[in-house]
Parts: sequence; C-alpha cells; structure tokens
Amino acid sequence: MNQLTTLQSKLKSLRLAETADHLPVLLQEAESNDETYASMLMKMVNYEQLRRDEKQVEKRLKWATFPYQKTLDSFDVSEQQSMSKKQFNKLKELLWIEQLFNIILLGPPGVGKTHLAIGLGMQAINQGYKVIFTSMGDLIHALKTEEITRKSQTRMKRIRNAELVIIDDLMFMAMDQHEANLFFHLINDLYNNASIVLTSNKAPKEWGELLGDPAITTAILDRIIHRAEIIHLNGDSYRMKHRSSIFEEESVTN
Ligand code: ADP
Ligand code: MG
Repeated sequence: MNQLTTLQSKLKSLRLAETADHLPVLLQEAESNDETYASMLMKMVNYEQLRRDEKQVEKRLKWATFPYQKTLDSFDVSEQQSMSKKQFNKLKELLWIEQLFNIILLGPPGVGKTHLAIGLGMQAINQGYKVIFTSMGDLIHALKTEEITRKSQTRMKRIRNAELVIIDDLMFMAMDQHEANLFFHLINDLYNNASIVLTSNKAPKEWGELLGDPAITTAILDRIIHRAEIIHLNGDSYRMKHRSSIFEEESVTN
C-alpha cells in the first residue's frame, strides 16, 4: 500500500469517508497552490463538514416523502391576493417552527395549498429540520398498521421524531371512531414537540362532521388551533388559470 491509500483507509476507519475519497484532489490543490499545512487541514475539515451537511439534506429529503418537489421561490405570491408579501416572508423565516406554531392552509382546490406546504417543508429541511409529508389517508393507514408492519412502525417513528409534520388534505376521508382516536393521540404527542402544517379545503368547523365524534374533534381542534396561524388561500384555481389548452392555437374563422 502506498502512502495515499494507507491514509485513505485510515481516514475511512476514522469515519472520514468523504475526505478519504476526495483526498487526492485536496492534496493536489494544496501542492499546486503552495498552501500552508493549516490551510490544507482547514480545507479538509471544511470539505468533510460540507459533504456531511449535503448528505444529511439528501437523507432528510428522502425521509420527508414529498409527492414532488416544489420550492417557495417558485410560489408566486402576487397570484395570492389573500397573503401579503410580508406574511409570506414571515412564513419563509420559519421562526414559527421554533415556537411550535402550526400553520393551517385553507382554500378550494388548486389555489396552491400543497405547493406552499411542500415549499415550507423543503425550506425547513435546508435549514436543518426534520420534516415529514403525509396525506391523511397514508397517516391513518400507518397509524392503524403501526403494530403490524415494520414499514409503518418506521414511518410512525419518523413522524413522531419530526420537527415539522405536514398533513395534506385533512379530512379528505371520513374517519371511524378508532381512527379518530389514533389521530387524536398522535396530535397529542406532537403538540409539544413539533409544528404541523395542515392543508384542507374544509373550514375547521366542518371537520367535526367528518371526524364523527364531537368530543374527539374538540380535543383535536383545541390542540391544533391553540398555537396556530390560519391562512385562507383564495382566488381562482392557479391550475385552471394557467392550464394549457389543446384548442389554444386554433383559429375561430370557420
Ligand atoms: P391545492 O393543494 O390548493 O389544491 P396545489 O398546490 O396542488 O393546489 O396547486 C395546483 C398547481 O398550481 C400546482 O402545480 C402549483 O404548483 C400551482 N400553483 C398554485 N398556486 C401557485 C402560485 N401562487 N404560484 C405558483 N404556482 C402555483
Ligand atoms: Mg393539494
């Protein structure tokens, strides 16, 4: 083994695998730039740190299970008369996650609730938070099968560990008593540990009808609304307004 490969394997056994792989480049650069030893070492640790951070973000993006990726940068606030640029920037700062505030995004289909929720989730991951995205259906399924399948168990563990839990399309489905109970216990567990972003096309006062049990509904609502910002998104469906049409180029002369 030459010196380089020995060094690389030692770095690997010290759990500096990223630096080990990149070592030839780092050494080459240091030599051609006549770097001091301290500067070379600094570059080495910075590289390891950077790659670890990047890998952490990649891992957390995977765990978050976003259905697709959307950023806050691609969210056009001027399309949304119901939210000022200032409010949007406040949301973007994510201080509400530190304060364990929940965000409730309400509005009819197509106004950008899911886009905004995913954008906030991605922003949170980039700032080092653990985020989970789930639809209501998936969440209930995972809760019901938690004791049965390893997959649901892992999923629920991540949800309980997350600092931000995004529940998309709340109450899209009606729940039975058992499901409502499981959901209540989860909300109760998250209450002092995580922020929740909820999207729904129904107002909170209508949630009760879908949950069935008024006592459980009140208990769930209490915890969700206690520290929450409710944002009503309105306007025409962005989807409809910006839809492409197969007739667009057609002339109407005949
Ligand atoms: P909702 O969840 O409210 O039904 P979506 O978030 O799925 O709506 O939005 C529908 C489509 O319109 C998505 O492709 C989304 O990216 C786009 N969209 C909605 N609002 C905006 C906006 N303000 N700026 C950019 N794209 C938007
Ligand atoms: Mg949606």
